[in-house]
Amino acid sequence: MKIMPNRLDRGFYMFQQEFEDKALEVLRSGWYVLGREVEAFEKEFAAYTGANYCVGLASGLDALWLAFRVLGIGSGDEVIVQGNTYIASVMGITINGATPVFVEPDEYYNIDAEKIEEKITERTKAVLVVHLYGQASRMDRIAKICKKHHLRLVEDCAQSHGACFQGQMTGTFGDIGCFSFYPSKNLGAFGDGGAIITNDENIARDMRIYRNYGSEKRYYNKVVGANSRLDELQAGLLRVRLSHLGQLEKERVQIAGRYTSKLRNPLLILPQVREGATSVWHQYVIRCEAREDLIRYLDEREIGTIIHYPIPPHLSEAYAGLGYREGAFPITEHYAKTVLSIPMYNGMTEEEQETVIQALNQFAG
Ligand SMILES: *Cc1c(COP(=O)(O)O)cnc(C)c1O
Repeated sequence: MKIMPNRLDRGFYMFQQEFEDKALEVLRSGWYVLGREVEAFEKEFAAYTGANYCVGLASGLDALWLAFRVLGIGSGDEVIVQGNTYIASVMGITINGATPVFVEPDEYYNIDAEKIEEKITERTKAVLVVHLYGQASRMDRIAKICKKHHLRLVEDCAQSHGACFQGQMTGTFGDIGCFSFYPSKNLGAFGDGGAIITNDENIARDMRIYRNYGSEKRYYNKVVGANSRLDELQAGLLRVRLSHLGQLEKERVQIAGRYTSKLRNPLLILPQVREGATSVWHQYVIRCEAREDLIRYLDEREIGTIIHYPIPPHLSEAYAGLGYREGAFPITEHYAKTVLSIPMYNGMTEEEQETVIQALNQFAG
């Protein structure tokens, strides 16, 4: 039995009829960009998260860079972010000309809140929190630090749709929560999509202006904006998926629970969930010192895995200009060398999970 690290087709067939009906409805409507479906999705997603406003965008990266743009953060400013994130988090900062200042992660793969204050300078304007792998970060402490130092707080929720800290949903703790609806995300579209959520009416209004060439009124342009509009087809299909997101999340929690209770191998370090936080298990990430051997061993058994992420942003060729050398962030770099995401997707059968568990438990290094 071949097991892939992710199976997007399963998520489609789960609600096939609803997706197909909605797609036809949109195609037949004659209106394809920023219309009724987008408006309805924005209302429903805001309600789901508990935020006052949601603005649909073209991608998660756009949500990030437009967030900093709208907050007026750019050249000469510093933004604090964890070292072990997907490169898009960092690009959202640097597209605006701002400088990322990296902080090491804690044992939950999120930013180590105790290491933020030592990185604050007079140039620091914001903290970008990434709820990596689906687990909410330590938001009480982080929000307090931001308040004390008058910093903006932006959340990268591309992997954490629905994850909570002390009962409050990720994306609602700071000024702006940024989401991606890339097909492999927990709330995935059938193409690219993104959104921001906020409680600030002005931020929501500015975001609507920026996403449409800087115009509020057609052909009257206030600022140099972007073309970052969510289309009707994606918004409609996202509405279908959003209506089932609670059930989809439960299934992921169940799969993760089975892994955690049945995986037993001293060579593997399993993921932990922080007290007060929940994880929506975007990935189930283990660590192994003999990772290359483990990948080869699983490959031979037709079990696919992915490394999230093999090269931390500070060592990426794209950011050679920042001048970091290997050793600059030892924990981040150690994670990059040892993390491995094992198969995790909606619609994963019990038989598939048991096959993965058995193989991992029999790995002898
Ligand atoms: C996917 C992802 C993004 C970017 O989202 P896109 O829609 O692909 O642009 C940003 N941050 C994180 C943590 C992600 O996982």
